[in-house]
Amino acid sequence: MAEVTRKLGLSTTAIHGGAAPPAPGTGVASPLVQSVNFAQETGTSEGLLYTRYGNTPNAERVQQRLALLEGSEAALVLSSGMGATACAMLALLRSGDHLVSSSWIYGGTLKLFTEDLPGMGIEVTLVNPLEPRAWRRALKKTTRVIFLESPVNPTCRVLELSSLQNLAHAEGIALVVDSTFASPINFRPIEHGVDVVIHSATKYLNGHHDILAGVVCGNEPFIDEVRRKMMVWGQAPDPFACWLLERGLKTLDVRVKRQNQNAMQIAEWCSKRPEIAKVHYPGLPSHPDHEIAKTLLDGFGGMMAIELKGAGQAVIRFVKGLKLFTYATSLGGVDSLVIEPRYSSHAHMTPDERAKIGIPDGFLRMSIGIENAEDLIADIEQALQH
Ligand SMILES: *Cc1c(COP(=O)(O)O)cnc(C)c1O
Repeated sequence: MAEVTRKLGLSTTAIHGGAAPPAPGTGVASPLVQSVNFAQETGTSEGLLYTRYGNTPNAERVQQRLALLEGSEAALVLSSGMGATACAMLALLRSGDHLVSSSWIYGGTLKLFTEDLPGMGIEVTLVNPLEPRAWRRALKKTTRVIFLESPVNPTCRVLELSSLQNLAHAEGIALVVDSTFASPINFRPIEHGVDVVIHSATKYLNGHHDILAGVVCGNEPFIDEVRRKMMVWGQAPDPFACWLLERGLKTLDVRVKRQNQNAMQIAEWCSKRPEIAKVHYPGLPSHPDHEIAKTLLDGFGGMMAIELKGAGQAVIRFVKGLKLFTYATSLGGVDSLVIEPRYSSHAHMTPDERAKIGIPDGFLRMSIGIENAEDLIADIEQALQH
């Protein structure tokens, strides 16, 4: 087969990106090389040595593909999304540096930023990302990183990037986005001037609820530094996780497009139901960031949320009545899930604090899978009658 030189589409890239066609007599699926150490050449310390160094055949293959999907110079796969965020921050920040972060971030990331980084001499300021000028006001001479998540968990708010990108670059600050909720099918932050993209590959990228992994995408020198942190902090991925991630990625485009369609259909249906007080989905014209979402995203995503009339009690009844949706944490996989933030990601807050940031009791986050939309809607309909 001749080498393909034209720019490939995202689905083709997810299947073939960076790999030579298999030679006759070799597997169409990549071989799994499940070994922690590798036979070495004497007289050199180059080459493949040890799995914790992160350059196993299975890691290299999937890393190259992820860089192509995000449009970054390089990418690194780590053992979890938290491992990715932690090593990226360790690579960017030193004692005495300052980090400005959106306050609307994943619970584990919030703990890292507010409990662990300060203990290492790194100053952290959290800002309300929707407050005009809050970012600019938070900056100091020592600010090295601006961090945000978009779309935001669990309200599905979509954050504007162009003014933030201008601000970061005028000040020589690295702009880092956790893009887990979107996947590169729906959103490629590097195209909008972002420097570093992080994913929990546990979610959409793998998509089957069966591995823990993370990805950091950025330029070559930065990724080299993250790799160094990964090696000494012990965050390298297992080859089998990389192999499963490569397999999961092959269907990323079809999965995410189906999830986009399913979520849109379910959100529209839910918005007409009298039992449901509010639907949070950026694809609905009623969503406060619908216009921003249209300009930044190629798809509105598979994450949505509903608020049931009757608050907490109504949600518990509803969830108990569901038959296809599983009540479980995590997101982005082929199986549809629901979870109440008040008992998971936002359990550390009081009901009033949650209500203030738009998560009242009665709020239910939904991760829409790839089942048939009619079946998911029928499941919601029968559970509403409980
Ligand atoms: C799950 C998640 C993480 C953490 O990823 P793990 O793979 O669980 O370590 C980080 N950010 C977001 C937005 C997530 O949803």
